[in-house]
Amino acid sequence: MALLTCASHAVSGDHFIANRRVASARALAVTSPIDGTPLGEIAAGDAAAADQAVEAAQHAFPAWAALSPAGRGPILRRLADLIERDVEALALVETTNNGSLFEASRLRVMKRAAYNIRYFADLAETLAAPAWDTEAANAHNRVRYDPAGPTALITPWNAPLMLATWKVGPALAAGNTVVLKPAEWTPVTASMLADLAVEAGLPPGVLNVLQGLGPEAGAALVAHPGIRRISFTGSPPTARLIGAAAAANLTPVSFELGGKSPLIVCDDADLDLAVATAAGQYDNAGQVCLAGTRLLVQAAVYDEFATRLRAKIAEIRQGDPRDPATHVGPLVHPKHLARVSGYVERAVAAGARVVCGGRVSPTLGGLYYEPTLLVDVPEGAEILREEVFGPVLTLQTVADDAAIVAVANDTDYGLAAVVFTRDQARAERLADALVAGTVWVNCFFVRDLAAPFGGSRQSGIGREGGHWSFDFYCDVKNVVHRKGTFAEAHAAGRRPHGA
Ligand code: NDP
Repeated sequence: MALLTCASHAVSGDHFIANRRVASARALAVTSPIDGTPLGEIAAGDAAAADQAVEAAQHAFPAWAALSPAGRGPILRRLADLIERDVEALALVETTNNGSLFEASRLRVMKRAAYNIRYFADLAETLAAPAWDTEAANAHNRVRYDPAGPTALITPWNAPLMLATWKVGPALAAGNTVVLKPAEWTPVTASMLADLAVEAGLPPGVLNVLQGLGPEAGAALVAHPGIRRISFTGSPPTARLIGAAAAANLTPVSFELGGKSPLIVCDDADLDLAVATAAGQYDNAGQVCLAGTRLLVQAAVYDEFATRLRAKIAEIRQGDPRDPATHVGPLVHPKHLARVSGYVERAVAAGARVVCGGRVSPTLGGLYYEPTLLVDVPEGAEILREEVFGPVLTLQTVADDAAIVAVANDTDYGLAAVVFTRDQARAERLADALVAGTVWVNCFFVRDLAAPFGGSRQSGIGREGGHWSFDFYCDVKNVVHRKGTFAEAHAAGRRPHGA
């Protein structure tokens, strides 16, 4: 039996299959990034555990699918209510497990996790299924959103419960059953979600949690022929492996991957807003896929922007993420710290200049990497092209709108772009030309659940959010009815067997 003790909460580290805890022969250690405290162990899932979880999901599927959105809705809304009831505990556990800020988690992130479940449960009940006539054939079309079957959901460590519920909500609301594989470093809130699912009355096998390593438990899950959908949030290299496994079974995938998003400051921008937003890119220690990490500033305002940003960075308070006064906490894991600092070291070796940070905090030590700003980065440098996923921003100057678009789009990614300008027409022109799944103008991180979300190029495949989630999680079926009789079709000169 694997056990975790996180912020004084005792949580099972075992798998959760058919509403029961299932132990594994091997276990993996979990530690807190705040101070390296051991939190306990989780089950190291393997192919046999993945089989067991998928079988449970297959077994539960027909009855859950048959419940209809109106039957599933009350259970899912109860789950949302329970997440809201436990916001404080979930937030403290998440903070202890992944180092994200407690205040942000308590006030926003965990409430959003509850809303992810409630929103899609409500939407499923009101989802408009199109219907129309084909006059030429005197026929009527009616679209149905049928549940697809057992779904594999694979999530990363930077916002564990929020990203898990963003997938679990629509997958369950659509009538699918789920096997959720959380990231190995941050498994705790997924396990707590399982307990809440039992309390909410989810039937056994509807939500299963498979713990373990990505290359073992995750790989076995996505390769399973019983899986009908795979939704994955993570890095492009892992997406390639999952895509290859999915190809064998032709399982549809939804990929939300990394980013190298530009944050564009035009010469007519509100600099107060632009500087504050740029400094906000260090939130969650920069471990945010949507972060605008490439600051592209027009020459006329570059010096003023750079001076003000440096002053703002100096005000950032780094420390224990449980302290409400802290702005930036630790990175998630020593391996990730090595990755982030490696990117900065190579950037400096290539000629970049560190104007802020560029090191582990000398006072805090551990995983507390200082908010870092790099300038004079040579064109084409690795740090301008690859996702660091840490508190590291680069600052570049750009001449005019043509250069803004060229530099902004000079990336393999296309997740988001942020534009600051007071000129609405200019904003629209830039937004049209930028390659990104989301463009924010004079704002950042406005994420309406009704909106399509996803990335272009290497930032993803497909869109989730609003009805786009149901397009993915459902088998969309068109039912075509003949109107009128065979004799009427003949009389009207129509082919009786079709159009
Ligand atoms: P990874 O791709 O390393 O891992 C993501 C998940 O996939 C983890 O649960 C991991 O398990 C699992 N996994 C790893 N290998 C396999 C495999 N072969 N088969 C199945 N599953 C596997 O990403 P990170 O966890 O490092 O997360 C950071 C990445 O996520 C960044 O690139 C970031 O941009 C992206 N991200 C994208 C978002 C978006 O919405 N576009 C939002 C948030 C993050 P394990 O942890 O055990 O290895």
